Amino acid sequence: MAVSIHPSVDRGVKKGAANFAGGTLTCTCTSAPVTVTLTANTAFNHVCGCTKCWKPKGATFSMVAVVPRDKLSVTANGNKLKIVDQNAPIQRYACTGCGTHMYGRIENKNHPLYGFDFVHTELSKQDGWSAPEFAAFVSSIIESGFPPARMGEVRSRLKELGLEPYDCLSPGIMDLIATHTAKAKGTLAA
Ligand SMILES: [Zn+2]
Ligand SMILES: [Zn+2]
Repeated sequence: MAVSIHPSVDRGVKKGAANFAGGTLTCTCTSAPVTVTLTANTAFNHVCGCTKCWKPKGATFSMVAVVPRDKLSVTANGNKLKIVDQNAPIQRYACTGCGTHMYGRIENKNHPLYGFDFVHTELSKQDGWSAPEFAAFVSSIIESGFPPARMGEVRSRLKELGLEPYDCLSPGIMDLIATHTAKAKGTLAA
């Protein structure tokens, strides 16, 4: 059996819909669930191997995308949300009932990705969300206890799914971050 990446991609990556305009994310609480409404489709969706992103039980990777922060609002039971780590660059708002991370927000205006919130569209029943495009921080799954000897298996499965494995973010995002940093330093004209 192929190594499991994430329940949303293990049976193949589902395509997004070009005209999809957003929807609702719901936590897994059976009563008074937290809901977050997005009024736009997501971008840069990917599976992530880091130890900080929330993932469903048993998953090797998380699946995470971004949405402009002004397109996200908490629409029910926001009183259950608590920031996981105040000092992390991305403040992840988790439900205190079920532990699900509902969104992650960057408050540092100088951060290259400021203005984007991080979300997990698997929490939505709607179809059409942007499809995962690559795999980030692949080597980091070892930090969560994944056997190093099986990394070849993981990387070939990711390639088979069309999710190019990277040990940081994708080249497009790394270039955006480096461009932001160079402009801030003055080594590149703003
Ligand atoms: Zn919950
Ligand atoms: Zn991550």
